[in-house]
Amino acid sequence: MLIGGELVHAASGGSLDAINPATRTVIAKFPSAESEDVDAAVEAAAAASREWGRLPVSDRAQYVRKLAAAIEINGDEFALLDTLDNGSPIRVMRGDYRLAVEQLRYFADMAPMLRGETIPTSESNSIDFTTRSPFGVVARIVPFNHPLMFAAAKLAAPLVAGNTVVLKPSQHTSLSALRLGELCADVLPPGVVNVITGRGSTIGDALVSHPQVRRIAFTGSGPVGRRIQEVAANRDIKFVTLELGGKNPIIVYPDADYAAAVQGVIRGMNFTWQGQSCGSTSRLYVHRSIYDRFVTDLVEAMNELAVGDPLDEATDVGPVVSADQYHSVIGFIERAIEHPATSLLTGGLPEPGLGGDGFFIRPTLFASEHDDNELSREEVFGPVLVVTAFDTEAEVIARANALPLGLTASVWTSDLGRAMRATRDIEAGYVWVNWSSSHIPGTPFGGVKNSGIGREEGIDELHSYSQLRNVYIRFDDHGAGGS
Ligand code: NAD
Repeated sequence: MLIGGELVHAASGGSLDAINPATRTVIAKFPSAESEDVDAAVEAAAAASREWGRLPVSDRAQYVRKLAAAIEINGDEFALLDTLDNGSPIRVMRGDYRLAVEQLRYFADMAPMLRGETIPTSESNSIDFTTRSPFGVVARIVPFNHPLMFAAAKLAAPLVAGNTVVLKPSQHTSLSALRLGELCADVLPPGVVNVITGRGSTIGDALVSHPQVRRIAFTGSGPVGRRIQEVAANRDIKFVTLELGGKNPIIVYPDADYAAAVQGVIRGMNFTWQGQSCGSTSRLYVHRSIYDRFVTDLVEAMNELAVGDPLDEATDVGPVVSADQYHSVIGFIERAIEHPATSLLTGGLPEPGLGGDGFFIRPTLFASEHDDNELSREEVFGPVLVVTAFDTEAEVIARANALPLGLTASVWTSDLGRAMRATRDIEAGYVWVNWSSSHIPGTPFGGVKNSGIGREEGIDELHSYSQLRNVYIRFDDHGAGGS
């Protein structure tokens, strides 16, 4: 791990296995931190925070650019590490390191936006202005689905804003974050970034409740997000942002560009990450007038996706990340097969030997008669899509909004009014019209309702790592007009 600029083992000497999900083999051992390691990492970050916070913002941005360059040079190694550790196809993982580099550079370029404003006062002999100051130590807790991309890109905004960071990657995918820690040790002053690995259930509470951690940013599941809010609130008043899951609707109207919509549904499911994406549009509503044809063409397109060795450049779909995730997704499929309202159209339970010993699941489609079943309501976080027919616009918008989640939504139509009504009425933080899946650089990403609090990837993220301070200055007016 990286603590205070040193590469260290866990103080207890404990370790966990990194498992390649394509082969179920142990490929490495990595440190299993405990609360004493958390304390050491937070203390190192706190010790570094004063000097880092006082560096000119342009100097901090320059450090972030150096980190981006170091990742870029080592990009192929990061892609390979993430593919071996996480299972997503190698060509997709190359895209992840490039996105990380792009985001680090975006926030470095945004450094001049870390400014306040002057506010008119009611006297001529006073001035009021705001400044932005850092929190100090930020805890950044990230999930398994984009290991390097989340670990690296999510350092950028807190660092540029003048904070030091304790980064905790997922116990399923810690290797690229540890390699990132090595690069941080070379590029950044000691203690500015610290990387600790281990189980969230072992070290999460210690990190979140540490009195010197005043700002927590979490990306992950809803239940852990709630736990973090609770643990933080029981200790202190902390600024917590949460990027959580979704069961995101994708709506295809009969006036949509038909072929583009079929491809849009495939892209929206992020099958190239085995569906393991918070933004996956996994609830498909197709207008009844085109439903049968659309579903037939969708099944055909899904069956064309190549499932197999993620190191093969031709592979579209690798294994899901872990045994736990595999059994969780298989459980959803088994229950949906048994459920009277849902019927399997393609994919389903993997045939014996699919992809060898790994955790492979084919892209899977279920039809559902209504939304009142587990598959239509719960996030699977796997390659499983559910489709259902709708009749009217009012009906489908109400159904889209019926869940307590609201991360993304996608709408396919050539009717401008219908598109605009959808962007106004659907309860989601990120809405695509005639598109799906992509995050547009610099645009704010985040959820409403139980999908989260806060926005990342744009200027709001940078500002969220600073605290506004108001300064009011009254000066004496005696010299006015005099000598
Ligand atoms: P998870 O919640 O199980 O774990 C996320 C991280 O939290 C890991 O690093 C884990 O070790 C840590 N953690 C676990 N228990 C903790 C605790 N008590 N205190 C502090 N940290 C703890 O999520 P996951 O399975 O890694 O990822 C899948 C979930 O993440 C899905 O629900 C998905 O929708 C969500 N997600 C959201 C976004 C987004 O931007 N909104 C992006 C990616 C993933």
